[in-house]
Amino acid sequence: MSSKNKTGTVYLVGAGPGDLGLITVRARELIETADVLLYDYLANPKLLEWTKAGTEQIYVGKSNQRHSIPQDEIEEILVNRAQQGLNVVRLKGGDPFVFGRGGEEIEQLEIDKIPFEIVPGITAALATAAYAGIPLSHREHSSAITLLTGHENPEKHTLSINFKDYGKNKGTLCIYMGIGQLPRIIAELQDGGMPGGTPVAIVQWATLNRQRSLIATIDTVLADLTTSGLGSPAMVIIGEVVANRSKAEWFEGRPLMGKKIIVTRARDQAGQLTALLESNGAEVIELPFIEVQPDVNPQQLTEILAGIAIYEWIIFTSVNGVKSFFDMFYKAFDDIRCLGPMRIAAVGAATAREIESHHLKVDLIPEKANGDSIADSFIQEEGIESIQILVVTGNQNRETLVKRLETEGGAIVDTLPLYKTTKTDLSAHPAAERFRKEGADAVLFTSSSTVKSFVDQAAALTLEPDAIKPAFGSIGPVTTKSLKELGLPVGFESEHASLDHFVNAATEYLNG
Ligand code: SAH
Repeated sequence: MSSKNKTGTVYLVGAGPGDLGLITVRARELIETADVLLYDYLANPKLLEWTKAGTEQIYVGKSNQRHSIPQDEIEEILVNRAQQGLNVVRLKGGDPFVFGRGGEEIEQLEIDKIPFEIVPGITAALATAAYAGIPLSHREHSSAITLLTGHENPEKHTLSINFKDYGKNKGTLCIYMGIGQLPRIIAELQDGGMPGGTPVAIVQWATLNRQRSLIATIDTVLADLTTSGLGSPAMVIIGEVVANRSKAEWFEGRPLMGKKIIVTRARDQAGQLTALLESNGAEVIELPFIEVQPDVNPQQLTEILAGIAIYEWIIFTSVNGVKSFFDMFYKAFDDIRCLGPMRIAAVGAATAREIESHHLKVDLIPEKANGDSIADSFIQEEGIESIQILVVTGNQNRETLVKRLETEGGAIVDTLPLYKTTKTDLSAHPAAERFRKEGADAVLFTSSSTVKSFVDQAAALTLEPDAIKPAFGSIGPVTTKSLKELGLPVGFESEHASLDHFVNAATEYLNG
């Protein structure tokens, strides 16, 4: 925690080229503990989810369309927040000292005597080369690597660099911000004597699942760029090493590369499905149909925890319930034995796994993962007459379970609601906005309830005319039936109801 009377520290942090896995451990630590976070458009938006609750997030990005906050104002924010005693992370795409204006920012910090630290990041040239399989140096072809900016000097309307000077360069040229001025850059290089056959690579959105690249020569690159439709942000790499690149396309060659896939979030498995799709190269947009929020009555919680040892059974109906219960339990008690000698039931395998992560054995898991099935097991097999049971749950699907345990089983049931599930208003959600604008190649439905939510939210999910119309994929026959009943055409169905099979089915369909 920062104290109010001490000046805070400003951290200039390289966020790397985009892929979350390419950020440094130090950068992650700082993002997780920052009081204030300044970021721009090249920073992966998922980084923002690492911040602690209450971190002030300030977008200071510049993109071609939007000129947000001018540089002197950014510097003012850095100084001003640090003077309030706050720790400030200034995230920059790639490395802060490579065409990132980090130098100007530390000059200002020095003037104002603000302590700072600098965390390097993987700069775009290195990341692009790696993800396109281009060795930047090569014993036979290139012994020098030059990082250049293609930026125009706004006052003089000339390029900041005289590219003619590089026409005879025998090494590798990596040009940042080079797309806008590429015709001038190429013309100057040719004037300076660069042979027309010199290989050129252009890589857009390197390291992300929307990475696209183009291989050309000095003579063909301008025409090829136009037909390819590639644009900023992109790295231009020029030199013989481009011809020595690996042809395996380890990154762009993955089977779902360039495919945009919609999955629904706030289900226990969403994270796993997303990770699997992404590792196969897909770009995933998660639509959160439902939101889970804590919803506890503190007095009821205190009473139930105080008497926790009287229950003979505790039933957990969801992963969320287990998580919130143990969060609260550990706050109230520092000894797991305070749980008492109770037995534990879980509605399904995922819920059971969550309980087992606390080194507690689960005594009962019903055949089917639903409330009725758990009620059946208790009533038919357990003999729960006059037995005290605690049901830990959310705001949904609990009434029948509790009623049946009481009326059919004769049990004494207390319910502990810990969270509530509500429908997300997608009309204002950025993920839905992207879907409406861009569309997707496929929407993957993992259950009937996700199909229902999709139809339910149709108004917020209506595609704009230019958007790509997605195929609908189903994880199995039950979900397929729901799709058909609601009038949605089924593009493909997974052979088995597992995530691996589902991703294979999507891959086959989308490449077929
Ligand atoms: N400090 C950054 C560079 C900022 S200048 C760094 O060290 O990488 C912005 C330029 O970097 C873009 O115009 C583009 O040329 C390049 N760039 C940044 N991220 C990129 C990416 N993921 N793929 C390709 N080029 C990228």
